[in-house]
Amino acid sequence: MIPYGRQEITQQDVDSVVSVLKSDFLTQGPQVPLFESSIRQAVNVKFATAVNSATSALHIACLALGVSKGDVVWTTPITFVASANCALYCGSDIDFVDIDASTYNLCPEKLKMKLVDAKENNLPLPKVVIVVHLCGQPCEMDKIHALGKKYGFSIIEDASHAIGGKYKGKPIGSCEYSDITVFSFHPVKIVTTAEGGVATTNNIEMAQKMELLRSHGITRNEKLMTETSHGGWYYEQVALGFNYRMTEMQAALGVSQMSRLYDIVAKRNELAARYDELLKALPLVTPKQINDSYSGRHLYVIRLLLDKIKLNHQQVYNQLRDRGIGVNLHYIPVHTQPYYRDLGFEIGMYPEAEKYYQEAISIPLFHHMTSSQQNSVISSLRSVLR
Ligand SMILES: *Cc1c(COP(=O)(O)O)cnc(C)c1O
Repeated sequence: MIPYGRQEITQQDVDSVVSVLKSDFLTQGPQVPLFESSIRQAVNVKFATAVNSATSALHIACLALGVSKGDVVWTTPITFVASANCALYCGSDIDFVDIDASTYNLCPEKLKMKLVDAKENNLPLPKVVIVVHLCGQPCEMDKIHALGKKYGFSIIEDASHAIGGKYKGKPIGSCEYSDITVFSFHPVKIVTTAEGGVATTNNIEMAQKMELLRSHGITRNEKLMTETSHGGWYYEQVALGFNYRMTEMQAALGVSQMSRLYDIVAKRNELAARYDELLKALPLVTPKQINDSYSGRHLYVIRLLLDKIKLNHQQVYNQLRDRGIGVNLHYIPVHTQPYYRDLGFEIGMYPEAEKYYQEAISIPLFHHMTSSQQNSVISSLRSVLR
């Protein structure tokens, strides 16, 4: 089976991890700060906080922005559930804004309409809007940022798919149009630490809050303490935090992987361009890219033109799998999950997201995929869709 995504582990990666295992620190040593510094340099941002997953990073990002009971957070229905769950962890409410029909990202025009409607009808405005750069394709951040200024909400970029990408010449993660950006380093993502996440920001207070929250709310920084130190052993718990720390082995793997980031993303873009070209004639829509952007190309999603195909969506999926093509579907609209339906969401609420779900298939894309693997994906698609 050709998987839809797969990590690449080089000898350099293995050596880095092994040398940490033989060192004094398995956690809370020098590797995590090194990894954070590699992220800061790669995305041109002032602060980076590494944690044990993007889910944890989303949680502490929401807390750093003050999300709590009585607030509402808005996000897109076409994302992994973690982009919405993080708001619920903070006791806040969640709501969704439907996607754009051609980019599959949260639609800025629908966001504007929902904001106008909320204001006119005295409904709560969002405290935070979490946008997701689906497949690596940047959201239209200039429009969303302008709405944030006008309606007073903060912005988190869930850039789990988008490290190495750019929007209007600025690296994703530079927080040019947002308060905090979150990356994931799960093995299917662009670069990996096995499990891991990072939150970036240019705001020192938010960075300090997130650093506190990842490790129990405990500080050894005298400036953040309420009392004078009792001695060398002294620390204070000044907030209720968690243990969301990344290990030294994970961080060392991350440093090693980050050294290849630009080559990896360039290769993904080459492979995607080849798909664009060779799939053109088939009854499907290839991913449209917005102007002035460079996608991390985490996923390659095709949309089937079902009225031009004899098979239905599920049959196409199954036949591709039968031929050894490890297709997948990103994502089931979050508002249709049973847990979210229990919160009051219903099928029919976000029609563009639901239509996307009827037609979308993610086909294999990873930077070390061979041309013969890619050819096999293309020829299987040709036979199945004929
Ligand atoms: C993978 C992913 C996450 C969660 O990442 P973890 O590191 O596994 O917690 C969140 N949001 C999106 C969009 C993702 O793809």
